[in-house]
Amino acid sequence: MNQVHIIGGGLAGTEAAWQLAEAGVQVRLSEMRGSGDMTPAHQTDGLAELVCSNSFRSDDAEKNAVGLLHQEMRDLGSIIMSEGDAHRLPAGSALAVDRDHFSAGVTQRLSDHPNIEIVRERIDQLPESGLTIVATGPLTAMTLAESIGAATGEDSLAFFDAIAPIAYKDSIDMDIAWMQSRWDKVGPEGDGKDYINCPMNKAQYDAFIQGLLDGEKTDFKEWEKNTPYFEGCMPIEVMASRGPETLRFGPMKPVGLTNAHTGESAYAVVQLRQDNALGTLWNMVGFQTKLKYGAQAELLKTIPGLENAEFARMGGLHRNTFINAPKLLDTEMRLKKAPHIRFAGQITGCEGYVESAAVGLMVGRMVAAEIKGEIFPYPPQTTAFGALLSHITGGADARDYQPMNVNFGLFPPFEQRVKKKERKEAYTARARTDFAEWYRPLASKGLQPA
Ligand SMILES: Cc1cc2nc3c(=O)[nH]c(=O)nc-3n(C[C@H](O)[C@H](O)[C@H](O)COP(=O)(O)OP(=O)(O)OC[C@H]3O[C@@H](n4cnc5c(N)ncnc54)[C@H](O)[C@@H]3O)c2cc1C
Repeated sequence: MNQVHIIGGGLAGTEAAWQLAEAGVQVRLSEMRGSGDMTPAHQTDGLAELVCSNSFRSDDAEKNAVGLLHQEMRDLGSIIMSEGDAHRLPAGSALAVDRDHFSAGVTQRLSDHPNIEIVRERIDQLPESGLTIVATGPLTAMTLAESIGAATGEDSLAFFDAIAPIAYKDSIDMDIAWMQSRWDKVGPEGDGKDYINCPMNKAQYDAFIQGLLDGEKTDFKEWEKNTPYFEGCMPIEVMASRGPETLRFGPMKPVGLTNAHTGESAYAVVQLRQDNALGTLWNMVGFQTKLKYGAQAELLKTIPGLENAEFARMGGLHRNTFINAPKLLDTEMRLKKAPHIRFAGQITGCEGYVESAAVGLMVGRMVAAEIKGEIFPYPPQTTAFGALLSHITGGADARDYQPMNVNFGLFPPFEQRVKKKERKEAYTARARTDFAEWYRPLASKGLQPA
């Protein structure tokens, strides 16, 4: 009986393990946390830990590419989506989750599965034989990263990703802050009052921007100096350095919000989103930062409502590793030089929790099909799965390969002209039709979720 070795129990590794196990394949899942090792961003031994935001982003499957990806994953029996749905928190149209309950749910279901053996161990070398999935993520342990480099003959690529601070709710002054979702949008579980909002006037905003520019930053090591930031997760001080108004048009935008205490609009607003089911922890939306802890604490207290705030976690910055997937992997995510090894998750150059899990799901299914002597039918590029896989295995120029969230720019354009305001719905409608067509033979071959 074939056993598949999955290295890394994060978003991608757990999803791949689940898909294989549900297809009747035995899995050994090696996770180094819990064996005395830790990454610089993880804080627990739980599988599928969310290292920063607790959001899976938009859950709108009609107008948003990541919402569409959620739906496709649900259709294929994703454990990440089912546990995400089970531990959902109010967050307007976004899918936010209680990170601890979510991780505990995934860990429990994998531990209970008769086809999965979870081993707490660090793997330092790529295995020389046996079907393997490497899903060690952006913070792959150094020794394994070196082994991957030796096997591929290439240095890994890298970029910087930053973490936003998390505050204790009872330390936020609600006589100054107020609860409201932008445009009072009511999402599932919500009531149009899902976010905490902290208002700023112009003088406070200007002083805050200056504080960001002046605050002491974490130093880069010499070899990190040419590493770029991921655009979707830019530190606030880097945004501020692009111009004083950048944050007011970004995470601090005041539109769609009215101060419930004064009835006025603020010049800028800092939002916090619920981070756990108890409602005791709140995550600062879009506030990832690389300011040193002391400078952060000092500056965040200048935000009205946060004067006495206490933080469960401060912001931080981490170097993320990924491989040049379009060059090194074939279309089935196999390492061309060692085809018994597949890669999944963020190490392949997708970006985000959902995308990483989606790639894990696809790779799990590819391996299951290979073991059963089936041909894995490649998802059409018009679907979110297909668009994402195509970006990784060939859609992007290997000379300038960069991590990417799923977005409609990865989908093939329409042959006929579609009006701009109808385009998003047109992409998702086409995707749903093509997905159903692709999925039908899969279901008849028994590759559907159990
Ligand atoms: C600082 C930072 C902030 C981020 N913020 C966000 C965010 O806000 N929103 C978002 O959507 N995405 C965010 N990301 C991206 C997020 O980490 C990934 O999208 C997602 O967790 C990647 O899933 P993965 O399974 O590929 O890797 P991970 O979830 O990181 O899982 C990899 C697992 O492999 C284990 N491992 C590593 N090396 C070894 C080894 N040698 N042997 C055994 N086990 C090993 C690790 O312990 C880890 O559990 C952030 C990433 C970082 C680093």
